[in-house]
Amino acid sequence: MRALVIGNAALDETFEVDVFPEPGQSIFGRTGPRGLGGKGANQAVMLGRSGVSTVLAAPIGNDARGMTLRAALDAEPIRRHRIDLDGVATDTSIIMRSDDGDNTIVTTREAALALTADMAIPALSDGAEGDWVILQGNLSIQTTEALLRAAKARGMITALNPSPLQPGYAALWPLLDVVFVNQGEAEALEGAGTLLKAGVGQVVTTLGGAGSSLSDLKEDQAFAAVPVEIVDTTGAGDCFMAVALASSILRGRRTLDGDALHTAAAAAAITVSRSGTVAAFPTATEMRTLL
Ligand code: ATP
Repeated sequence: MRALVIGNAALDETFEVDVFPEPGQSIFGRTGPRGLGGKGANQAVMLGRSGVSTVLAAPIGNDARGMTLRAALDAEPIRRHRIDLDGVATDTSIIMRSDDGDNTIVTTREAALALTADMAIPALSDGAEGDWVILQGNLSIQTTEALLRAAKARGMITALNPSPLQPGYAALWPLLDVVFVNQGEAEALEGAGTLLKAGVGQVVTTLGGAGSSLSDLKEDQAFAAVPVEIVDTTGAGDCFMAVALASSILRGRRTLDGDALHTAAAAAAITVSRSGTVAAFPTATEMRTLL
């Protein structure tokens, strides 16, 4: 079983601040980590570090930021399906992180939105029936829907993290085996039950320090988070989703179970106890002790 992650890659620029600026206010900050980010890249890196055979198809501009991103991705244990874009800026996230570990993020998504279905669907040929196709909320709804339909037609297993939320997801639920949402997204989508009734196979809801739940039409199971001292929660959700999926993929499973969510909580606890996004994720060596 392989993982095909089709999503965005972005250059993360982090600034550390005491308090977040108000509109119209200028404040001093400190330079924080800079490097690989974007939900597609984050999840692909964690799948790769977990030992899953992983392909990332992410649209990247042919600019200086894109060169930095490609070099960072090539240092990770994943394969890249190249989608290089001329005349489009590489996506960038400006992250402000406060002393208590909270963050605000602005992300550009010109490159992510430039990815059409025609450009993205060939990436499915890197996998086969029974492989997992893993998507996030950064691509256009049209490209996401076309990818899910093409993946299902090939007998692939589909997972989506619809974050950031955008209108139009309701039509996608019947095409999804697993959906990951955080608490705010679950509330905005009217609960896991709504997704399950619409055709999603399993819903994982992450609840920050309160852990997570795994729901299907038969039951809801709750799982605790691992208590740690919080430094920076950026990317915790991506780490959690990727490791939960990796745990299942490595065991050849088509569904998630309690073991997958326990391992994901342990990996996410490492992430939130360190600064940065990918820089804070567990290493391949750390993942070998968790899996
Ligand atoms: P982000 O947007 O910051 O990536 P998210 O909102 O998608 O995160 P969360 O629900 O905040 O996702 O967190 C995902 C998982 O990370 C949780 O289920 C938990 O396992 C772990 N985690 C997050 N916050 C904490 C915390 N305070 N203590 C321990 N674990 C945490």
